[in-house]
Amino acid sequence: MWACGIYCQVELLNALTMLPPLFSTAAACYAVRGKGWWRSSSALALIAGWFLMIPFSTASHLHCAFQGHYSHILIRLDQTGISVACVLAAWAMSKSTRFTAITAMASFSMDLIMWLGPADLRVHVAWRCLTLAGIVLAYLSPMFWMRDSYDESITPIGLCFIAGFCMAIQAPLGPYSHPLFHLLLIPYSYYVSRSAMVFELLLESRAGADREWTIEEGSFDGDEIKILETGDCWNTGHTKADELLKDAELSDVGDARDIELGTASQSNFPVFLKSC
Ligand SMILES: [Zn+2]
Repeated sequence: MWACGIYCQVELLNALTMLPPLFSTAAACYAVRGKGWWRSSSALALIAGWFLMIPFSTASHLHCAFQGHYSHILIRLDQTGISVACVLAAWAMSKSTRFTAITAMASFSMDLIMWLGPADLRVHVAWRCLTLAGIVLAYLSPMFWMRDSYDESITPIGLCFIAGFCMAIQAPLGPYSHPLFHLLLIPYSYYVSRSAMVFELLLESRAGADREWTIEEGSFDGDEIKILETGDCWNTGHTKADELLKDAELSDVGDARDIELGTASQSNFPVFLKSC
């Protein structure tokens, strides 16, 4: 008859504690964006990451609970899921295609060696845990170099990362270290998601400011600014720039270069002028 001893119980606990971070991720997205949070691409990337990680991790821990040992294939699947989730997190934290591509290359290289590399690297887990910790630090790094001001999520994330790293790698509390590591993922994923969502709002407000500037300074037609040619200049027909600027009505506007750059002093100047 199947008996569930202490290690088996801990593995069941490990499987169960993989679920709450998904909800803390959703809670952070809701806290920042409100009801429409699920329309955010950052939120979708972060949630998709957890949907990738949960099945593989849960399967790996349940296999150990019922079989009494880990499966190398399930551990590899678990770590592959984590590496893909890291790429999705890199996108959410940076919204940079180039940065996401670099993170993807690092993750793909680790996966390639883990699945097809030398036999000892396919079996031993420690080097993969350290590599994943490095990739995690990489996707967190935009909090330092892509934010306008100090990101308040840095402190709680830093504390969770240090404590989680000790629990996952050094296991100071024996078998209870791993479920504690999973529990640390609850505040960790909350603050990572919060940072990504606040950053997304910042990018949207920047884009909104640019859009307002465009409408104010130029003729806004869909997504394009209408650039007028000489023949389009009002009341001039084929008038050249010099003649146009001699016009008393236009003398307040500034010079032709200012007009082209959209820096003319008259804020309701209707169009960008080209070669007028
Ligand atoms: Zn685990």
